[in-house]
Amino acid sequence: MKIGTKIALQFTFTVATILTVFCLVIYYLSENYRQQEFFNSLKDRAATTARLLIKEKEIDKKLLKIIDRNTLDTLYGVQVLVFNDENLVAYSNYEADTFYYNPELINRIRTEKYLETSYKDKQVVGSIYTDDENRSFVILAQATDKYGKDKLNNIKETLIIGLFSTIIITVLFGFIFASHSLKPIAAMNNEISKITAYNLKTKLNTGNQKDELARLAINFNQMLARLENSFELQKSFVSNASHELRTPLAAIKSEIQIALEKDRSTEEYKHILKSLLIDNQQIIKLINGLLQLAKSEKSDSEVLMNPVRIDAILFETQEEINYSYPEYSVQIDFDAIPEDDNQVTVHGNAALLKTVFVNLIENACKYSDSKSADIRIIFNAKNCIISIKDEGIGIPKAELSKIFEPFYRSQNASVFKGHGIGLSICKRIIQIHGGRLTVKSELGQGSTFRVILPHI
Ligand code: ADP
Repeated sequence: MKIGTKIALQFTFTVATILTVFCLVIYYLSENYRQQEFFNSLKDRAATTARLLIKEKEIDKKLLKIIDRNTLDTLYGVQVLVFNDENLVAYSNYEADTFYYNPELINRIRTEKYLETSYKDKQVVGSIYTDDENRSFVILAQATDKYGKDKLNNIKETLIIGLFSTIIITVLFGFIFASHSLKPIAAMNNEISKITAYNLKTKLNTGNQKDELARLAINFNQMLARLENSFELQKSFVSNASHELRTPLAAIKSEIQIALEKDRSTEEYKHILKSLLIDNQQIIKLINGLLQLAKSEKSDSEVLMNPVRIDAILFETQEEINYSYPEYSVQIDFDAIPEDDNQVTVHGNAALLKTVFVNLIENACKYSDSKSADIRIIFNAKNCIISIKDEGIGIPKAELSKIFEPFYRSQNASVFKGHGIGLSICKRIIQIHGGRLTVKSELGQGSTFRVILPHI
């Protein structure tokens, strides 16, 4: 079912329920009021008859009958019966056999003194009166409230007609109102259906910028902008990655072509194979970097985290670098020995954190003549801070913020081998750990990278 139809029907149902309850209450109260009013009139009539017949001695039954029949009032067709203390009919303004009474009812009136009841479509009132000689009479008055019932029927008809016409009007207004309110959504839907991966620049109309639909359109536009950005990143990532892979592969191809141009000595072949091996290692390194980048793009919840000691990871990293690059020198310096092991323990993934330190330390050694890196570990109440310092080529100020973008390499780094993906991997990994990666650098003097991680 369409939302518009649903809203219209819900609206109609709510209004119809409220109105029906309202009409029922009105009908019930009117009926109660009518009945009570009629009982009161019957009671008055019984009292008048008693006064005239029992108390006023001069009025005899015949005269009273004439008065009774000629009295025009709302009690149309009222029947009045008076019973003496032996329960015999002492007076009736009508033929007694058409009157509803039974001894049981008379006795009930004698005990209850006053009684209101109904019989078929008639209302009956019974009361007791005592004359001067202490004889007790029971007076019954009964009649059909024709006028009251007619009036009540009129009210009923008016309420039913009013209820149904209001429901019809509500349905009509419900549909008009729902389609009017949903019009902007239909327009938005139309605009969204035209957006594809190739026209993410298209923006939805944000109307008055204030209501809920405008907020939805604004959020949607922001999401489109983020999507566009990530599409752009993806595109440049693919083209950068292919470019980075093509360079060593093209070098390998031309080396092989040159080698095959003529017969060569075993020594020459060995030399060519060694060079091919170096290029091949470059490709493997790049592919590993790309894989790590892809891994670091995992959502934070997918990464397995455990309490890990930062100093232990740093010592392992130092050992690994010493083994792979014997020419590099890595010094680790504790600013102060932690009193509490927790100050150097973070909640993290040891393998990923090692990747960060390997990258930062390798860079520090690679971009400095001395091929050395100084590591310092400090901690405060909240964080464990690891700084990696070198006295190398430094980074131009204008490029400091860009070096964390995938494949970005600063101008002065072009003479060094590299692909520009290490720092973007580091940044993402530190982000997953809820930490920060910062850099300070002075061109020609050196750089200091700081990894700030919350300890446990
Ligand atoms: P790569 O070192 O393979 O180029 P990275 O992502 O690790 O890739 O580094 C990105 C860029 O940041 C480098 O190309 C270089 O310009 C700059 N850079 C990183 N570390 C240093 C450093 N210690 N000293 C000077 N420049 C650095």
